[in-house]
Amino acid sequence: MEPVDTDVTGPDEHDGDAPPAGQAGDGPDGAPTLGDLLLAVEELWPESLAEGWDEVGLVAGHPASPVTKVMFAVDPTLEVIEEAVEWGAELLITHHPLLLKGVTSVAATTPKGRAVHRLIESGTALLTVHTNGDSAVGGVSDVLADALGLRDVAPLTLAANGLPEEGIGRVGDLEDAMSLGDFAARVFGILPSVAGGVRVSGDKDGLVRRIAVCGGAGDSLFNEVRASNADVYVTADLRHHPASEAREAALNGRPYLVDVSHFASEWLWLPAAAAALGNVLADQGLDVDIQVSTTNSDPWDFILTPG
Ligand SMILES: [Zn+2]
Repeated sequence: MEPVDTDVTGPDEHDGDAPPAGQAGDGPDGAPTLGDLLLAVEELWPESLAEGWDEVGLVAGHPASPVTKVMFAVDPTLEVIEEAVEWGAELLITHHPLLLKGVTSVAATTPKGRAVHRLIESGTALLTVHTNGDSAVGGVSDVLADALGLRDVAPLTLAANGLPEEGIGRVGDLEDAMSLGDFAARVFGILPSVAGGVRVSGDKDGLVRRIAVCGGAGDSLFNEVRASNADVYVTADLRHHPASEAREAALNGRPYLVDVSHFASEWLWLPAAAAALGNVLADQGLDVDIQVSTTNSDPWDFILTPG
């Protein structure tokens, strides 16, 4: 599988003033600690924004440990963990949880157990920023909306514990109407290249302007998408029945559907998240090297299509 092309711009240079004792940067030689990183992450993507069913936050790691290198990735797969360990990251931040359901063993005889062992044995902390990262301003769907050029963007559903601009999914308007075919090409152009490409349901020549997006699997939001009067819904993992029923219920053929790779739709957030975290740390005088994983963890490798 081709590695993902990453081009992350780090935070601006800062003066590097040592923070006062007992404050951020309390690790050996003034290095930031994992605890400092947790505070910065909480500032950007508060755990209170996570959905009730979700499991976010620290999965492995000592808050007192120093952190000089942080890697962002979508999935905590073994390949991603190896990449982080090899680079020397003391903290891996992934969008998807490693342990979402209860476990009774982390023996290294299972893939998840091997992941836990590799993390702990290599001294690499793991932190999950999942639906809190979806919901926050600058979150997964915000970044997707921004990359598509949407304006006057609002959430599709409001976060239970958040501000009016926080919640799952986004809806907004293109500056000018364009054909569904051209819009699909725009979607294809902003996402990292993956085997599954982009699938579209609707009239290729139909004009679209109001666009709903939900990074990751968004087939639970069709009611909200219809209520938003969107011409198109861009999301991932659309299954036959929800997609087919949404098309049957469409008024004047809308909303059209654009189904993208779950991985690709969420990967887009990683460079933005890395830059945001870098800026928060730089504001505190903390110097941390932040990179985005180049591992493509989309599970699909090739596709056959007619013609
Ligand atoms: Zn996801």
